[in-house]
Amino acid sequence: MSPVNLFDFDLAALTLYCERLGEKRFRASQLFQWIHQRGAVEFTQMSDLALSLRSKLSGVANIAPLAPRSEQVSGDGTIKWLFDVGGGNAVETVFIPEPQRATLCVSTQAGCAVGCSFCATGHQGFSRNLTTGEIVSQLWYAEHALRKRLRRDARVVTNVVMMGMGEPLQNYTALVPALRVMLSDHAYGLSRRRVTVSTSGVVPMIDRLRNDLPVALAVSLHAPNDKLRDDLVPINKKYPLAELLGACKRYLSAAPRDFITFEYCMLDAVNDSLAHAHELVDLLQNAEATRIPCKFNLIPFNPFPGSGLRCSPRERVLQFAEVLTRAEFVTTVRKTRGADIDAACGQLAGEVQDRTRVSQRSVRMALPLRVYPMSSAKHNPTAPERQETPA
Ligand code: SAH
Ligand code: SF4
Repeated sequence: MSPVNLFDFDLAALTLYCERLGEKRFRASQLFQWIHQRGAVEFTQMSDLALSLRSKLSGVANIAPLAPRSEQVSGDGTIKWLFDVGGGNAVETVFIPEPQRATLCVSTQAGCAVGCSFCATGHQGFSRNLTTGEIVSQLWYAEHALRKRLRRDARVVTNVVMMGMGEPLQNYTALVPALRVMLSDHAYGLSRRRVTVSTSGVVPMIDRLRNDLPVALAVSLHAPNDKLRDDLVPINKKYPLAELLGACKRYLSAAPRDFITFEYCMLDAVNDSLAHAHELVDLLQNAEATRIPCKFNLIPFNPFPGSGLRCSPRERVLQFAEVLTRAEFVTTVRKTRGADIDAACGQLAGEVQDRTRVSQRSVRMALPLRVYPMSSAKHNPTAPERQETPA
């Protein structure tokens, strides 16, 4: 029988597992702390566990994090890791240091089945869901590798966003235990406000997340009406705007913040006119049924080969933001980070064996840029602000 990977367990599952092995429940918290807080991968390191338990565990379980295949460091301090998940698939994880916080952008799937037209991951198709252990071990790796590198005992990663490859709410059963590990005081101890799930709008799962584990929610809106959103975010055909905004409203009753963040990717001559901005205001402020406390995060489109799309000119992004700000929506323009290593939003492509369709996918060329083999990775901690507000 293949060993059980303890990365796949949240604390409740690990407690049950310990009980099944005939061990006391508190052993689970000890194990959990060794793995997630102290970065142990060998049972022999766990000096306060009885030798008999350590040898019992080594016969049936292991602690097997993902192996990073490469690391790229951007001139702005952003770091991107490529993790091998087997079967010819690899996923990407991005670390974004800022003066006041350090955010890890985590992948939840190899590829994505939603297929948004402006997203490199969507262009690749879908291979498979990541397991809980594969999601958690992206955080485990970043946290412990950076602690060693920066010679820090204290926490390095302060925020996690599920904004890497994949649609988190289409991998719900693996996502929720992974979130529990991130929030557990015996592991990473992140508050619900500091862990954000970003979704293209899987309405029933937004409701489930509200009941199960309401962390901060970001919703990828990208259009002020169904016609345009159907084109850009195909899942809109299944869950149109009225249903999506209804779910957002319901979510607010349990959310750790009193607003929803709407992400809006600025695409030249597609969704970026002033008329679109006013339509957005009407939708979210003036229409009774869909009025919602929210903030906007405008994301300048990050280009990738074969998308056929362009980023809105800077001036238009600022004018668009101005309309929203005048209507009293807090609006930020996301500062692009890590573009020189293809680590910006929507540029993550990893390697995906598309099992969904034989599509004409864009072939991405690896940048000949500061790709370090794992043993000689360097880190540049300098970093400018991530968000900027419009003038
Ligand atoms: N699947 C989830 C989370 C991953 S995508 C979602 O769609 O929300 C994370 C964010 O990056 C989303 O807001 C997405 O719309 C945005 N994004 C995707 N491709 C992009 C691109 N090429 N340029 C800028 N933002 C992009
Ligand atoms: Fe999937 Fe999100 Fe990319 Fe759309 S934007 S294809 S939902 S990862």
